[in-house]
Amino acid sequence: MLKKNDVVELTVTDMSFEGMGVARYSDEDVKGFVVFIHNAVVGDLIDCRIVKVLSKMAYGIIENILSPAEDRIAPTCGYFPKCGGCTHMNARYETELRYKKNCVAAAFKNNYPDAEVIPENPVPSPALQQYRNKIICPLSQDLKFGFFARHSHRIVPVENCCLQDEDFEPIIRKTEEFIRTYSLTAYDEKTGRGLIRNLYLRKAHATGEIMVCLVINGKNIPHKEQFTTMISACKGVTSIYLNINREMTNVVLGKTCVPLWGKESITDLLCGLKFRIAPLSFYQINSPQTENIYRFVAENAGLTKDDTVIDLYCGIGTIGLCIADRVKNVLGIEVIEQAVNNAYENAELNKIKNAEFYPAKAEKLTEVIRSLPKFRTPDAIIVDPPRKGLGEKTIAAILDLAPKKLIYISCNPATQARDIAMLNKEKPTYKIDRITPFDMFPRTGHVETVCFLSQY
Ligand code: SAH
Repeated sequence: MLKKNDVVELTVTDMSFEGMGVARYSDEDVKGFVVFIHNAVVGDLIDCRIVKVLSKMAYGIIENILSPAEDRIAPTCGYFPKCGGCTHMNARYETELRYKKNCVAAAFKNNYPDAEVIPENPVPSPALQQYRNKIICPLSQDLKFGFFARHSHRIVPVENCCLQDEDFEPIIRKTEEFIRTYSLTAYDEKTGRGLIRNLYLRKAHATGEIMVCLVINGKNIPHKEQFTTMISACKGVTSIYLNINREMTNVVLGKTCVPLWGKESITDLLCGLKFRIAPLSFYQINSPQTENIYRFVAENAGLTKDDTVIDLYCGIGTIGLCIADRVKNVLGIEVIEQAVNNAYENAELNKIKNAEFYPAKAEKLTEVIRSLPKFRTPDAIIVDPPRKGLGEKTIAAILDLAPKKLIYISCNPATQARDIAMLNKEKPTYKIDRITPFDMFPRTGHVETVCFLSQY
């Protein structure tokens, strides 16, 4: 039987949900014992060093590649795989898309009672590099910004991340220069001491406007004026903020943002509409692919001019406003107040009159809708929840309102499939008409899916 530090020859035959290579090991004692191998590509023949053995599986690392997979490529980033940001830097893009399709198929097969749901191929991302319009970099104790190693809170200092927008690099380096020049300290998660926690940058893809937000464990920073002078000189910067986060928590942003310089929000264009984005509001990170998703939803959801549509988890109102001209009215619901304020501003900015937004938890959907002066049963509900999915209360509320159509956009096919199974638990209520994955996050293990459902 396998034990730690054994080196065994294995052929990688599959990919796990986390993007690890999967191989099967056999000897006199075991047949087909599963071994998960970091950074292995399907088709690799390797010497694998076993690093951990559990009762049903083992984990290993590549000791030596005996014969590389046909799909294996040299990583385009020198920090891979030390930096945990990317999973698929060493395989061809078609392989990554195939893996993502399999992930979605597997999620639905396990969780959905009608097991024969096969998704389409993922829609490729228009850009494979520099597509991220937002980054959050933690500061290491030696005052370098970076990203966390995989499954860890160890910071790997990174320069020129190839996924981030090209305008971010000078701002990151300037901020480090400021921190070093004025001897500011880095926040230490273990002790809760130190001032600077993260640098959070966001760029409006179409207009080039950049918001810089320094997350601090304190009320203020010394030499604030020098900071704004240095950073406002960087290309694209139109807003500078401090975000106050004095909690000992993994949550990156605190509730308070202090404007230091420039405009309150940045403004982007999506699907021909203008969107204002405040620092605490959610905004999709890959703008061209987001446009593809919103257009796809608008054109294929079968919405009509008579429809009342709820945009649940609406953020700054992007989806609802992008479909507003095709329907009778839109009701957006979102928990972050700053985002709801943006949604109202955005409706006004685009002269959209048939959209309203409410600050509330999705779980309170029924109460919100029933409390409106003109209660109308929604014809369609669009949901776009965070990774953890909808949860029981929201599912009960959707069943209670019983829209004819449900459009479920998700960044986690596992919870999406689970939720759809839950919607149908008591009795078959919603059938899946179509599942379309979109590759919103190239090189990472994440995949976005749009699922159209309709009442049986
Ligand atoms: N549809 C938007 C936002 C999707 S992200 C877009 O495409 O940009 C998910 C959103 O759900 C975030 O804005 C988040 O603040 C919000 N959210 C998270 N939990 C929520 C809850 N329980 N109730 C309502 N909104 C929630």
